[in-house]
Amino acid sequence: AAKDAGRHCARVYHPSLDESHERRQRLEQDLKRAVEDEEIYVRYQPIVDAQSGEVVAVEALARWSHPVHGDVPPDVFIPIAEISGLINAIGRQVLLHACREMRETGLDLAVNLSPAQFWDGNLYDEVQQVLERTGFPPERLELEITESLLLRRPQVAAAVIDRLRSLGIRMALDDFGTGFASIAYLQQLTIDRLKIDRSFLAPLESQPDMREVLISIVGLAKAYHLEVCAEGIETPGQAQLARIAGCGRLQGWLFGRPQAASAFQPVALRA
Ligand code: C2E
Ligand code: MG
Ligand code: MG
Ligand code: MG
Repeated sequence: AAKDAGRHCARVYHPSLDESHERRQRLEQDLKRAVEDEEIYVRYQPIVDAQSGEVVAVEALARWSHPVHGDVPPDVFIPIAEISGLINAIGRQVLLHACREMRETGLDLAVNLSPAQFWDGNLYDEVQQVLERTGFPPERLELEITESLLLRRPQVAAAVIDRLRSLGIRMALDDFGTGFASIAYLQQLTIDRLKIDRSFLAPLESQPDMREVLISIVGLAKAYHLEVCAEGIETPGQAQLARIAGCGRLQGWLFGRPQAASAFQPVALRA
């Protein structure tokens, strides 16, 4: 189906840079309506244990199928949602749906948090309410934030993270290595996992130097007692090198594209 083809589908909408202000405003209006009508839905990408190869977790990824333009990629609509303030509602819907749909699978669940959500004073209460409403075990939930968050007010960010972790959930730093955050921030933050950006994984086979870079990043993570997930694994060779470097979890197209919740069996039915 067109929905499942994601960003590779011919109908994927990519607004050009010179696109009129008016056009973007219309997209924002459409997004507003989509959020109200709960047209935002969630796909789940499997994450495997590097040693066993078993699926141990999923990442929830927001999807929007525009009635005219087709699938609008999150890289397009999340920034619009950020600017227009719709991200809080979208984030709430994604978290609620994901906790509901993944509860019975027994899998760990990663959900992305945008900066606007992170700095919103209601986030703690909202996460707590979703956990209560859905009965999702807090220890299986991990919220992903990006380095860019830490630049502004690292001390306040650390406090927000600690408060969220007091719910019993875990925190991960997403797209690690792509931002401008200093390594020193790792010292101040109580996070549980680094997700190494796929730009470090993609060149592993063609550029042997990158293997040393990856090994160094994993070493850094270990020094801070952080778990590591490698993102964007597309080939068996990359998976093998990531495993050798010490990444505990692997995510990427090699193991599965983002899929509907129904692709993940309840734990009671799994072999
Ligand atoms: P992310 O959190 O880093 O998510 C991983 C992205 O990499 C996803 O793109 C996923 O489909 C893609 N990916 C996974 N494996 C591979 C691979 O092997 N090769 C390649 N080339 N790509 C791979 P997607 O779903 O388009 O999402 C893009 C970004 O949009 C996410 O990056 C995240 O920053 C943001 N996003 C998605 N859903 C949400 C959401 O619910 N809330 C917020 N705040 N942001 C979201
Ligand atoms: Mg993520
Ligand atoms: Mg990521
Ligand atoms: Mg990424």
